[in-house]
Amino acid sequence: MTEEHASEIERALLLLHSTGEVSEIRALGRETLVGYFNDASIAAKQAQELDARCAADGIYVTLNPLKPAVLSRCVNRLAKGKAGGATGDGDVLTRSWLLVDLDPVRPSGISSSASEHDAALDRASMIALALSERGWPMPVLADSGNGAHLLYRIDLPNDIDSKQTVQKALAAIDLEFSDHTVTIDTTVHNAARIVRLYGTMARKGEATEARPHRRSALVDIPAEVRIVAPEYLEALARSLPAVNVVNDPRGSFDLDGFIERHRIAVRFVGGWNGGRKFVLERCVFDPAHVGTSAAILQLPNGAVVFRCLHNGCSEKSWRARCSTNQGKIYSTLSLACYRSAVPPYSRGGQRAGSPQLHSTLRCRSPAESRFSAE
Ligand SMILES: [Zn+2]
Repeated sequence: MTEEHASEIERALLLLHSTGEVSEIRALGRETLVGYFNDASIAAKQAQELDARCAADGIYVTLNPLKPAVLSRCVNRLAKGKAGGATGDGDVLTRSWLLVDLDPVRPSGISSSASEHDAALDRASMIALALSERGWPMPVLADSGNGAHLLYRIDLPNDIDSKQTVQKALAAIDLEFSDHTVTIDTTVHNAARIVRLYGTMARKGEATEARPHRRSALVDIPAEVRIVAPEYLEALARSLPAVNVVNDPRGSFDLDGFIERHRIAVRFVGGWNGGRKFVLERCVFDPAHVGTSAAILQLPNGAVVFRCLHNGCSEKSWRARCSTNQGKIYSTLSLACYRSAVPPYSRGGQRAGSPQLHSTLRCRSPAESRFSAE
């Protein structure tokens, strides 16, 4: 078994880093161990040996390639971590991976339950599929032990622009796919980010039958791990709505009442940037826009923003985003809702509505509406 684990760890290292590339391995637990490696086989053996002794709560590896010189900090061995011994953002050569880190919502310091763990893996597949429909290549899917990871190959310089692009892209994925059961971690955008070294155990809290410690693993590696074209990454980053809408002088808008009145089908509700988001079953401007691309957002000041990722809606999203006239947004949305809910033949007569839309309206309770990831 131990050999099997060592070879799984080595496979992960060879996937993340090309031969000879320098990475840092960090073991966290009662004490921190840090080492720099350019030999995947030696790194895997040491990590496996440490893991087998249960000497660490978790073993991690840097995602992006490091500057060759940092190898001299501690060459191909793990040693007690000194202050300043770990990788900083400036030690990173380039950005070669985009990490989407999905965590099931649960109290801190404990392992996930089977259903929570499954929910994170299911959500990861959903994201991979949704992005592939928009032209993204399929990512590597990994089991982090408690949640799921998607790893997209990218090729960006390690600079401030790349950092902002990655930060916004993760925020856009979070906006579209996080809810009260699974959240996307938006803090993992730094170049020196470490991830679970796949093949090692995740030991969070004490292992119980309901919340066991699990071994992390690579779940699915595409036959060809293609690089995400920068324009796709930038388009995703740009899809993040601006939040500088001016205060509505008439005060906060009753968005819940609005959604109920217009029988807008809501896929899920969550917190967003201190406000709320309602990810819709279908776009109010075009019912063919299904999936998770359409959302109504309410900012902390009460202002409402509509956005849909489909090309045909970009202008509407933009207008809603930039308008300081909230009344105009409500009336535009109202009209769109009216048009989408009422079949053309009954327009002008009695409002027909749409029972199946109404039945999917959910997440009404404040508990469900609250963003429980904090
Ligand atoms: Zn749309």
